[in-house]
Amino acid sequence: MRIILLGPPGAGKGTQAKRLVDKYGIVQLSTGDMLREAMASGSALGQQVKQTYEAGRLVSDDIMIRMIEDRIMQPDCARGFILDGFPRTVAQAEALDAMMARHGLSLDAVIALKVDEKALIERIAGRFSCKVCGTGYHETFHRPKTDGKCDICGSSDFIRRKDDNATAVSERLNVYNAQTAPILPYYAKKGCLKQVDGMAPVADVAVAIDGVLSAVTQGVLHGS
Ligand code: ADP
Ligand code: AMP
Repeated sequence: MRIILLGPPGAGKGTQAKRLVDKYGIVQLSTGDMLREAMASGSALGQQVKQTYEAGRLVSDDIMIRMIEDRIMQPDCARGFILDGFPRTVAQAEALDAMMARHGLSLDAVIALKVDEKALIERIAGRFSCKVCGTGYHETFHRPKTDGKCDICGSSDFIRRKDDNATAVSERLNVYNAQTAPILPYYAKKGCLKQVDGMAPVADVAVAIDGVLSAVTQGVLHGS
């Protein structure tokens, strides 16, 4: 299964992608995570993108398209993948179509999470994650079971993203509206866009996404 999860920053893409990884045994390709890993490693790429990332602007299409093409060719993607944070421009969407066609691959679904701006700001402001295993939390919506201790690995070391500050968030929302939202009509025209209400609690969003994917799977099984 090959899926794109679309939606503004803080919509819940990463939260849902992680669940789908467990459910379908496919990999999550988060371009934001890839950039954060590059910056943490101090690689040339990491240094090149740091300023753009921290300001909440988009890294160039060239870099991102190359990064995704390299990644989807790796053996662990053979069973399928969930794109989280890519594509983010119409040029990236067109390049993705072209690269998938070149490699004989097709998309099963493009799922867009709809969340209003006030909720996005609240979600991003409260977001933090475990520094050791990366598990994501929220101060209000998803606290660790024991305060200050990661549910998964027990670590008490938590971090917040450098671009989750008020200035960068405001820029990221502007960038989303100007450069990423136009992807929705691009996929709607192709007939593969499914909109899901992302304002609902995590479990309800999960049920809605599973509904979309089970319809897609049945369509695939019945050859439509
Ligand atoms: P994205 O990957 O789209 O930027 P995340 O999955 O990181 O978004 O979610 C942003 C924050 O909102 C996280 O702290 C997460 O725990 C929380 N969150 C995700 N989905 C929901 C939801 N449906 N309701 C409330 N909070 C949510
Ligand atoms: P995310 O983790 O998806 O919220 O992405 C965090 C930041 O990484 C964005 O604000 C951009 O600076 C950069 N980024 C991630 N994915 C892309 C992409 N597909 N195109 C351009 N920049 C990206």
